[in-house]
Order: sequence, then structure tokens, then C-alpha cells
Amino acid sequence: MAERPSAIGQALLAISDQWTLLILQRAFLRHVRRFADWRDELGMSESVLANRLKEMVAGGLLRPSPYREQGRTRTEYLLSEQAIELWPLLVEIWSWERRWVPRRHGLPELVHDACGKRTDVHLGCASCAAAPVTARDTGTVRGAATFAQVTVPRLHRRTVRPETGDPLSYLPETFEVLGDRWSTVILAAAFLGLRRFADFQAELGVAPSVLADRLRRFTELDVLAVEEPGARPRYRLTDKGLDFFGIFAFLVDWAQRWYAGPPGTGLRITHRACGTAFRPCLRCRSCGEVIGRTGIRFVPHDGEISR
Ligand SMILES: [Zn+2]
Ligand SMILES: [Zn+2]
Repeated sequence: MAERPSAIGQALLAISDQWTLLILQRAFLRHVRRFADWRDELGMSESVLANRLKEMVAGGLLRPSPYREQGRTRTEYLLSEQAIELWPLLVEIWSWERRWVPRRHGLPELVHDACGKRTDVHLGCASCAAAPVTARDTGTVRGAATFAQVTVPRLHRRTVRPETGDPLSYLPETFEVLGDRWSTVILAAAFLGLRRFADFQAELGVAPSVLADRLRRFTELDVLAVEEPGARPRYRLTDKGLDFFGIFAFLVDWAQRWYAGPPGTGLRITHRACGTAFRPCLRCRSCGEVIGRTGIRFVPHDGEISR
């Protein structure tokens, strides 16, 4: 099929990769912009890093910029406006992992400069100032071909690394979902109300073996639960799965701001309470104010392991 993917499909093509997300994360948190610094921060092989940087430049996420060092011209990579807009998605990933995924090494903590508190975030509606907004507070309408045009071939093999001493690189369950396009699409379909194996299969056009594998993994992760086992199993989102809606909402919002899909592939999330197209924002759980990109800091965990 020559037609280009939906906006969400294009967004997933650009960022649904563990290394890409980690490269972005380090650029945000540590202001990394040079090859050697990403390599050393992330322990990546040079060939994989070079490949990802090239893709991220081609995809408009990074902007190469020359600089002089010891008489030679080298390249550093600056976040594009498009990439900078991914910051709340990364904060929401941090928040979800912190809430739901057990770990040995605590994630860094978020400090909101305005109130000075170590805090967490709530998903909010940018239109009506409600927070928290959950999946249950929203309605979603999709075009007939939204899913048919999401599935583009996966570029990179899915690999989830074991927990090492570096807590920032260990976001295992997010990477399982966002690092694999079928997983993202299946979870998105669950948010849209799909429940039965046969419905996922028919609507997504996914091979039964792939679908069975991803649904099994989601139940292992306690993101989905089997409601009616048997020949025609029915699934439901658990609280943990429903809470992934924040990440999904920022992904959809970003995708729709930066990509255009063919007709009939759109997706519209509405905040029921105010009736507007849902634009997510982050609010501080301590003071309730909207959080801006430059008004927060991450500080090392104080040693006590969360959860
Ligand atoms: Zn609203
Ligand atoms: Zn605050």
C-alpha cells in the first residue's frame, strides 16, 4: 500500500524506538547534544547511535549544527521545535513508570520550581483547567481507516534492556508498549473500546499469532486483564492500563500537531466535561498549577526506593 500512514503512524515511525526516546530524554535532561556524550551517557554502540541520529535528523527531530573544536569542524545536534514539544510525553512516561513499575533503583524526582515541592504530575485539560483527567473522562472518535494506516513496518527490533545502575535508562514497560508499533496500536484500540480478540484482529488486520503474543504480554504486565476467558476471550484495561492514557494522549496530540494523515485516518479525543477536543497538559500534584518545560527539574532520588 503506497498511501502514507495516519498521523499517529507517522509519529510512531519517528519515535517508537527505545533508543530514540532515550536520546531525546538525555537531550532534555542533561542537555546532551554531541555524539560522544550520548554514547557515553547511554552506553550505546557507535553504529546504532549514528544510525538513530541520522534518522532523527531526517525525521526533523534533531537539527545538525556545526561547531569548532581543536581546529576541526564537528557537528552537534539540537532539538527541533517539533522534538521540544515531546517534553510532556517524556514527563508522563516518567510519571507512569514511577507509579506502576517496580524497580530497584529509584527514578530521579521531579521538582516544581514554582512551589519548590518534590512532586508528581496530573494529566489536565488545557481548555477547561480540569485535572486530573482520566481515560474515562474522554471520548474518542476515529476515522474508518485510522488503524489500517497506522501499521508501518517496524524499523528496529524491540529490545528491552535489563535494569542497570542507571535508573533513567530503565523504563521497561513504556518501551515494551511504545517500542513496538503493534503493541501501541493494540493498546490504542483498547482505549477506543475494542475488547474481543476477534474484534482486534478484524479491525487492525493483525496476524493472530502477533495479536495473541501482544495480548498475552499485556496481561503479564497487568495492563490488560482477561474478563471472559475461553474461545472468545474478552479483555479489559486494568487501572494500570487505563493510566497509560496520559502517554497516549500526549502522543496523539503531538502526532496531530506535526503530521497529516490521509483522509479517514484521524482520531479525535474529546474531554466530555467541556466538550472540546482534548489538549492535554501537565499539572503539579502539589500546587495544582500548570507545569511548563522550563519550570521543572529532575533531582537524584533520595535513596528510598519508590514502590
Ligand atoms: Zn476540558
Ligand atoms: Zn507545584
